[in-house]
Amino acid sequence: MESRTLRRCLATCMLAIFTSLLLLVPVSRLAEAAQLEQNWQYKIHATDTWQSFDYPQLPQELASGTREIWLRTTLQPGDEDQDTLLFMTFMQSVRIWVNDRLIYHYGSFDQAHINAGQRWHIVQLPPLHEPVELRMQVAADFEQTMRGLNTLTLGTGLEQAQKPFLFDLPIAFALPGAVLIILLMLLCYRYNPYRWRKLYLALIIFMLTFSWWLIAASNSKNALFDNALFWWYALSVTAYLLPLTANLVLYVILCHERGAHPGWILAVNFTLLCLAVGGDLTGHWSMNAMMRIYYPLLVVTEAIMAWWLIKACRRGNILSRAILPALVGFTLCGAVDGLTGHFHILPWRLYCTPLGIFPLMYFIVHLLRIQLARERSLAARTARLEYKVAQATERSERDNLTGCYNRAAGKRLFELAKQQTDRMEVPMSLIMLDIDHFKHFNDTYGHATGDRILQLFAQALREELDKERPLIRWGGEEFIVICPGMSQMETAVLANELRRHVVRLNLHGCGVTCSLGVSIWHDKKDTFETLVKRADRALYQAKSQGRNRVVSEMDLQP
Ligand code: GH3
Ligand code: MG
Ligand code: MG
Repeated sequence: MESRTLRRCLATCMLAIFTSLLLLVPVSRLAEAAQLEQNWQYKIHATDTWQSFDYPQLPQELASGTREIWLRTTLQPGDEDQDTLLFMTFMQSVRIWVNDRLIYHYGSFDQAHINAGQRWHIVQLPPLHEPVELRMQVAADFEQTMRGLNTLTLGTGLEQAQKPFLFDLPIAFALPGAVLIILLMLLCYRYNPYRWRKLYLALIIFMLTFSWWLIAASNSKNALFDNALFWWYALSVTAYLLPLTANLVLYVILCHERGAHPGWILAVNFTLLCLAVGGDLTGHWSMNAMMRIYYPLLVVTEAIMAWWLIKACRRGNILSRAILPALVGFTLCGAVDGLTGHFHILPWRLYCTPLGIFPLMYFIVHLLRIQLARERSLAARTARLEYKVAQATERSERDNLTGCYNRAAGKRLFELAKQQTDRMEVPMSLIMLDIDHFKHFNDTYGHATGDRILQLFAQALREELDKERPLIRWGGEEFIVICPGMSQMETAVLANELRRHVVRLNLHGCGVTCSLGVSIWHDKKDTFETLVKRADRALYQAKSQGRNRVVSEMDLQP
């Protein structure tokens, strides 16, 4: 891999880690604050005697198969504001008493109907004037899930109400990023019909899954819809879907690479998803149980993907290089979440995975940069081609000898001028010119001089005409001028000026003169051909009247 790319990858990872620390440090400190750490006792059955243990570590010697536990501690009257309990249940039902008075009840204690899912609870304590006993009864599906209770903290009402939302900070950063990526990819998918459409689609699918997972993993979702069971299944199924959709993106990047088989990894992810969901549907506790396989498998499969990506980088696959930081970022965050979740390292379920969005942003920026560069070069190529086509068209419409428009261009120029005059409701006329006795010049001075005279003649006329009145070589030594916006009188005046100009210039010292016929557009029945025909008749008249003169259509005998 190039050292510059390596530096970029490292910088992105460092940025992600730095941002993670910024977010995680205050959040985890909040979680530690004001824990109830004194004089904890437990018993398994109501008739047992109480035994001490070190909170927040729950008693280690719980017999396997233990489904219920009683916990108690003594609350001392102190700061009056510190009257609110906050805790999280994870597949647990709970009851709380203060001095034999039941103050909170969540879920069923019928073993068949223990609450699924995880949920936070805020419980206001009665005013404490003397030491009181806080007693809890916790029922769980498994002995391991009891351990989730070390999230219990005491604090002021406001503090406790804020905490669940503060734990969502990483998610609050990641969710807008994911939505932004979805919108960008939708735009790319919509406006880029040929390139990378599969990649854009895969990224949209991945980001949709990721966004849904973020919502399901957040604490704030309860404000939207308070149903722990629903969110538990949403979170679990999406957790299995995440690697599948993420690897779909890598599949699109790697599918044509020699030696890479990303389809196999997709098959592994899909199998795991089917086993987990299928197991749960058939009454086995498999979605949770298979998390033990899920995280190690995640690290192994993504390491294989990373290896294929590095190999693809070396072969010049520009996308594989840019996606590497995202792959490493998501896998590391996932692995950290797996470890902290399994060993209950953090007092609260706090996810790092949302932070994987930062290195992914790097990939998206890279993708858009390549896309923009391609579009720019395509636009430049199109402009060059358009210029060449315009040049070729221009050349095909020009007469080689005189540089005037040729007969073929005449028709197009006429239509253009006609549209303009129709729109502006102004008249339109036409002049036809023919050099007098040109055959004589050819015969006297030779054909080459005849050509030269033709060139000088055309040049002289062009000097007198503006852009709106193009000069067209109609054939031989005959020319026409289209005159939009001019009446017959005005056109006759212009024709006379042209005639005088030619005489004045005395082209090639040969006394060249020309005769001109003027015609005007009549009505809708008129056509270009009839207009030319009438100008030709006027010209013929000018010739027969002695040449070197202008005859207008209105001067003709009917
Ligand atoms: P009139 O005053 O009646 O128009 O007389 P004229 O000699 O100009 O008559 P006509 O229109 O019959 O002759 C046109 C001549 O122009 C015939 C042809 O040899 C010559 N000619 C046509 N095209 C070219 C050209 O491209 N170069 C040269 N040198 N001569 C051309
Ligand atoms: Mg002539
Ligand atoms: Mg002629």
